[in-house]
Amino acid sequence: MTTAAIDAPMNANPTTKRVLHAAQILSIENLTVSFDGFKAVDNLSMSIDEKELRVIIGPNGAGKTTLLDMICGKTTPTSGSIRFRDVELTRLPEFKIVRQGVGRKFQTPSIYEDLTVGENLEISIPQAHGVWASIFFKRTPQIKERIGGVAEQIMLADHLRTKSGRLSHGQKQWLEIGMLLVQDPDLLLLDEPVAGMSPREREQTAELLKTIALGKSLVVIEHDMDFVKSIANKVTVLHQGRLLSEGSVDQVQNDPRVIEVYLGH
Ligand code: ADP
Ligand code: MG
Repeated sequence: MTTAAIDAPMNANPTTKRVLHAAQILSIENLTVSFDGFKAVDNLSMSIDEKELRVIIGPNGAGKTTLLDMICGKTTPTSGSIRFRDVELTRLPEFKIVRQGVGRKFQTPSIYEDLTVGENLEISIPQAHGVWASIFFKRTPQIKERIGGVAEQIMLADHLRTKSGRLSHGQKQWLEIGMLLVQDPDLLLLDEPVAGMSPREREQTAELLKTIALGKSLVVIEHDMDFVKSIANKVTVLHQGRLLSEGSVDQVQNDPRVIEVYLGH
C-alpha cells in the first residue's frame, strides 16, 4: 500500500503529520488455481490502488491471463480471495462482477465487424443488453453524448459510421477498449492491448491508457518493455504463477531474479 504524508493544518501541532493510505480498489490474497494439480497461479497476493495503472509482465505461461480470468470470474480460484473494494469477487458470477464495475478486454478483439463503430459502442452500453434489444433501444441525448465522448477518447470520432471490419487492427483494439469505457467501469483489465500495433498506434495507446487512468484503475498485461516504460508507475512480475518482483520499471529490470528468469535460459 502506498502512503503519502501530508502537512497537518496550520492550527495543529506543526510537528504532527497525518499519514494517508491511498485507497485500494483491488486486494488479492493467497490466490491459487490448480488445473489437475498444476498451479497456474500459486498463492499470489497483490493489491491495486484507486486510479493506479499497473502493468503485469512475466514469461509465457507465468499465469498472467489466468489471473485476469479469476478477477473477472471466468475461472474460479481453488483458494484465496479477490476483494474489489468491499466485495468478494470469487463468489460472484461473471455478469455480476461486470456490474460491480470491472471491465475485461481479452487478447483477441471481439467486436461486431458488420456493425459500425457507433453501433458497437451503443450495444455495449449496459441498458442496451445485446444486439437485438439495442435495435429497439431509444437513443437519448445522454447516450449519444456518451458514445461521442468515448469515440473521441479512443480516437475514432471520425469513424462513428464506419463498419468496424474496415478499421485497422489497432483501431479495432481501441474500439474494444471503448466498448468497455461506455460501461464506465472503475477497474479495467487489459490483456496485451498493443499486440500487433504499429509503433505510432502504440504511442497513441500509451496516451489513451494514461488518460483513462486519471479516472479509473487499470491492470495491463504487456510484453513490450518500451511500452511498459511509457505507461507504468509500478510493475508486477509473475513467474510460474508466483509474484517474482514488484516495483518501478527500473527496480524490476535490475532485480537479479527478474534478469535470471528473462535471460537465464
Ligand atoms: P500467461 O498469460 O502468463 O502466458 P496463462 O495464464 O495463459 O499464462 O497460463 C498459465 C499456465 O496455466 C500455462 O502453463 C497454461 O498452459 C496453464 N493453463 C491456463 N489455463 C488452463 C486451463 N484451463 N487448463 C489447464 N491449464 C491451463
Ligand atoms: Mg496470456
